[in-house]
Amino acid sequence: ARLSIGLLFGGESPEHEVSIVSARSIAAHLDPERFEVRPMGIARNGVWVLNGDPFARLAAGEMPPRGPYPFLPLEAGAEMAELPDVFFNAIHGAGGEDGQIQGFLEPLHRPYTGAGLLAMAAGLDKWITKRIWESGGLPVVPYVGLTEEEWRRGSGEVLRSLAALGLPVFVKPANLGSSIGIEKVKREEDLPAALERAFTYDRRVLVEQGLTVRELEVAVLGGDDPRVSVVGEILPAGEFYDFKDKYLDGKSTTRIPAELPEGVANLVHRYAVDAFRALDAYGMARVDFFLDRSTGRLFLNEINFIPGFTSISMYPKMMEASGVPYAELLTRLVDLAVRRFEEKA
Ligand code: ATP
Ligand code: MG
Ligand code: MG
Ligand code: MG
Repeated sequence: ARLSIGLLFGGESPEHEVSIVSARSIAAHLDPERFEVRPMGIARNGVWVLNGDPFARLAAGEMPPRGPYPFLPLEAGAEMAELPDVFFNAIHGAGGEDGQIQGFLEPLHRPYTGAGLLAMAAGLDKWITKRIWESGGLPVVPYVGLTEEEWRRGSGEVLRSLAALGLPVFVKPANLGSSIGIEKVKREEDLPAALERAFTYDRRVLVEQGLTVRELEVAVLGGDDPRVSVVGEILPAGEFYDFKDKYLDGKSTTRIPAELPEGVANLVHRYAVDAFRALDAYGMARVDFFLDRSTGRLFLNEINFIPGFTSISMYPKMMEASGVPYAELLTRLVDLAVRRFEEKA
């Protein structure tokens, strides 16, 4: 019999629309011989949309009221007789990529794609991620993490470490994606205002040394012994790879595989697996790197557990270039979900 796949998409994060596009692509390519897709949309108000055509309803911006189920955020009259065999999570950012949905699904006792709660929660938080990687001896760009409270108090220690970073710096909210809230600061006098803006997104903010970099990415797929794709490169159109470049003008270009100096690809592969394991990841991740143009040094930037997932997104393209076509990739992710579930049971 075919496995029923509860395809979760949408969600409450600013990446809601990107998720709809990712999920449509997944639904169109999941092997129809093995899988029967049940789209499960999460509207912008957090309500689960199961009736009719959830793709069309979310795309139209529908936000139905919650049904009369005190413990479940389902729309009223949700037509679902039983749970799907496996959940396929295509929700980017907060709600889907930060441990929330994983914690929600655990008590349902069904496999779900991707890693568990711990990896997701740690991996979406840039500050926690860096601390875990550093403690494992992995290279990260010099940074200072600060809370809003430390900034307001004018903590002397924090101010000294900020000054030691030099200029330019990148200011980033700890928990976000798609470059939202990220600013490059070139003059000391602009730092306070940039921090204020970052604190409107998060109580915790990172300030990183701004390097002149090449941006490399790699796709990791698997469980305890994951495989890594060829290395890809992003060539941003503007000064850095910002929101506009990612989703609005699409002027940045990519290279798969990237042309790299001797030894760099091997190092990327090694760090990617170590970075994946250090966070207890499972299933998939896109691991992003910076190659410093002036020193040639390689740094881990961040990990994305639900990266953009249309058939032309970086993760699937890098996997395809490494011998795993898109439909096959989807099958493997479902098989990995089942394997992880059985290993835990
Ligand atoms: P994603 O959409 O990939 O999840 P994100 O919002 O998590 O992105 P980052 O990848 O940390 O954010 O930063 C966004 C972009 O800003 C990077 O791709 C790069 O172009 C630039 N950038 C960030 N940090 C630095 C740095 N320390 N030095 C140079 N450039 C940087
Ligand atoms: Mg990110
Ligand atoms: Mg992301
Ligand atoms: Mg990034």
